[in-house]
Amino acid sequence: MARAISKVMFVASEVSPLAKTGGLGDVLGSLPPALARLGLNVTLVLPAYQQINKQNFTRLDLGPLYAWSALDWEIEVWQGILGGCTVYLLGNPILFDRPGLYSDHNGDFGDNLARFSFFCRAVIALSKALELNPQILHVHDWQTALLPAILSTGATAPSPLDNAATVLTIHNLAYQGIFPYKDFFLTGLHQEFNNINGIEYWGNISLLKAGLLTSHAITTVSPSYAQEIKTSQFGYGMEGILADRQDDLYGILNGVDYAVWSPEHDPWLPAAFSADNLQPKKTSSQRLLKIAGLPPVDKQPILGMVGRLTYQKGLDILVPALDTVLSEQDIRVIILGTGEPHYEHMMQAMTGRHPNKICLLNEFSEEVAHLIQAGSDMLLMPSIYEPCGLSQLYALRYGTIPIVRNTGGLHDTVHNYSPDTRSSRQGTGFAFDDYSPENFLNALRQALKVYKNGKIWQAMMRRAMKQDFSWQKSAYGYLALYNSL
Ligand code: ADP
Repeated sequence: MARAISKVMFVASEVSPLAKTGGLGDVLGSLPPALARLGLNVTLVLPAYQQINKQNFTRLDLGPLYAWSALDWEIEVWQGILGGCTVYLLGNPILFDRPGLYSDHNGDFGDNLARFSFFCRAVIALSKALELNPQILHVHDWQTALLPAILSTGATAPSPLDNAATVLTIHNLAYQGIFPYKDFFLTGLHQEFNNINGIEYWGNISLLKAGLLTSHAITTVSPSYAQEIKTSQFGYGMEGILADRQDDLYGILNGVDYAVWSPEHDPWLPAAFSADNLQPKKTSSQRLLKIAGLPPVDKQPILGMVGRLTYQKGLDILVPALDTVLSEQDIRVIILGTGEPHYEHMMQAMTGRHPNKICLLNEFSEEVAHLIQAGSDMLLMPSIYEPCGLSQLYALRYGTIPIVRNTGGLHDTVHNYSPDTRSSRQGTGFAFDDYSPENFLNALRQALKVYKNGKIWQAMMRRAMKQDFSWQKSAYGYLALYNSL
């Protein structure tokens, strides 16, 4: 019988709370500890960004250590512990000692290809220096997708990672690590990848493609998204490769770190609440309205949204639908998000049309994110696509009813409420199918109507709060996959 997996190495560009821009950070902050709790020996490797407080880390002196690349960059190594996992931070003063993970106010850093090629090579150098020999090497998104490709050609001198089975998780297929074709040399990959059957992608190169072609298994973060990405609508040009590799493609739903996201013990909230004691939720609502500078409410509902302001998040249908309900009804809307300037301006213009009813908090704030989840009555997520989505899972836990488009992980986690079917006893939110302002508006109106019936609404809140999306279940899913490889 094959030996059960006991040693796993995660390599990623975000790990909450050390470095996070979105759901990727949350997943890397909670899946590795969940696997460690199942008894696995888990190592996490991420770049030594400037923003990470290195006080709790030890700087290792491993002698001169270089990541082979087009240029020989020296690697700095720090070691620490997080959630029962050993963490290594790999840095270089020129490439990582600057504010921001991938970009600054001028846009994406021009040297991201060099930065993440360096990082992938540095992981191999680290494994040699410390003789780290995991059975599974689990990489995430384009930033680390080069690693399985580098190892697959045996182009580096032998390393302890050579025997590991590689797993690539796609957290969002729209982000593919696209760079100019002329910079292929910076990847340091073997020339066999320098063509259309390699990492060439419509006249550029794609780092994600390197991982899609070479990792032993590919996973994504919900069963529905695993199906969707094999279609031209959601495949972003990778649907062919993904269809070819469908026997190695798995959809494992993300989980929630309930130690961080639970209204019973959330330090960001002014008062704890639970399914059996809903009343104190109002205190969070009051705090939220105050922060947003909106007038207090009596019985009017508060609608919240937390997320990146990008094309994906459905803002093109959100704005017309909200314009309509805001002109019809006395409600409050609070949106927390930063993102593409086009969408930031669009949201700002909308707030200008409905003063005293809607507020855009155009910042990144963990506190406000928690307060929106706790203090809102409904959470808006009309995404065009959603690989898994964590915000709706947090909302459910806080009795904040999600209004979502039926896609990807939203489809897999929110049960639509419909008054005339059996689902009225199962509904945990409101879901609409086709992407249009009218459909979103209908779902909103339906939710606002049901909200007026306090008894039905509270029953739905309690049902939502009792849903269990804890990591343990997902961790077992990954463990089963690891053992099968
Ligand atoms: P995505 O990964 O597409 O960004 P998810 O719903 O999976 O979407 O995860 C979003 C995560 O990022 C959540 O933890 C959410 O609270 C957080 N987040 C997004 N925007 C902000 C913001 N402006 N301030 C604080 N947290 C944010």
